[in-house]
Amino acid sequence: MKFCSRSSVAVALSAIAMGAIAACSPTTSQDTTNSTDAADSGDSTEAVVNLYSSRHYDSDDELYAAFTEETGIEVNLIEGKEEELIERIKSEGDNSPADVLMTVDVGNLWRAQEAGILQPIESEALTTAIPTNFRDDANEWFALTKRARVIIYNPDEVDPSELSTYEALAAPEWAGRVCIRSSSNIYNQSLVAAKIAELGEDKTLAWIEGVVANFAREPEGNDTAQIQAVASGVCDVAIANTYYVGRLMRSEDPADQDVVSNIAVFFPNQESGGAHVNISGAGVAVNAPNKENAIAFLEFLVTPEAQQLFADGNNEYPVVESVTANEVVRNLGDFKASDLNVEQYGELNPKAVQLMDKAGWK
Ligand code: FE
Repeated sequence: MKFCSRSSVAVALSAIAMGAIAACSPTTSQDTTNSTDAADSGDSTEAVVNLYSSRHYDSDDELYAAFTEETGIEVNLIEGKEEELIERIKSEGDNSPADVLMTVDVGNLWRAQEAGILQPIESEALTTAIPTNFRDDANEWFALTKRARVIIYNPDEVDPSELSTYEALAAPEWAGRVCIRSSSNIYNQSLVAAKIAELGEDKTLAWIEGVVANFAREPEGNDTAQIQAVASGVCDVAIANTYYVGRLMRSEDPADQDVVSNIAVFFPNQESGGAHVNISGAGVAVNAPNKENAIAFLEFLVTPEAQQLFADGNNEYPVVESVTANEVVRNLGDFKASDLNVEQYGELNPKAVQLMDKAGWK
């Protein structure tokens, strides 16, 4: 890949190693379904925060360790799929030990909010650090990172001058050349929701019908699989999140390096609304027994130290504007991001799912 030199990868990796040394205390990882004393009193004196997270990145452990080191508050991590965690908090009800729900994609945060399992909080640190379009206006959830969903192309088959927008991938010249994961994937649902917000329903339906007609294969696999499919010639273009590219670029596996050498990244819609940006984020659970600790935890996650750990650990874009992405991701290039309020992607999610179904997007 032309914009990534080996030396830049080495610099980024050594920066992570330094971060790891600074935050090396162990993270407690245990289930805490028996902390009903705290729930009963409504206000715990325990120095813990019970974190329900669907983020499955090992690098997040470094963040929790850094928080514990700084505050003395232990992080009890309960991991699961987003739907399972939302259901669990709902069914635990008043006795739920959940303090914080952390998940990827604003669509999931919106579903949690709709399910009534989050509560509004007051935090000047959060509202100051996070731009308005990346947090709920009722303060029930907040973005912690940003992810750009972009076009990946095979430079042997596609000249970047042929690329322009997401919408243009519906044109007949892309017939049999497009890879993208299934319509059950919330990243795609949010992308379609963003287009509904920009273009309206009719134009969005026509767009996705065109894209579906251009599929190189039935949707299969995650974003990494789409990038691999471009590299191996199954398709010429794909849509994927940039952190999957960053992960491959920083991998020492020769197979991953081979993939990286056969693809390039294109930021679409630079002359129009900007590239689609989604978030990963969190909110305080509605019956949080350790509410103060939960707020302290969220506030920690938007400090420059934590934002840097997010950026280096999972190659995401920091939500706090003063913190920069890691060098590998920065080398993908500057780009114009959509400034839509991401809250709309949640609100328009049911409509997006309906249109994708109508368009025959499997
Ligand atoms: Fe992902």
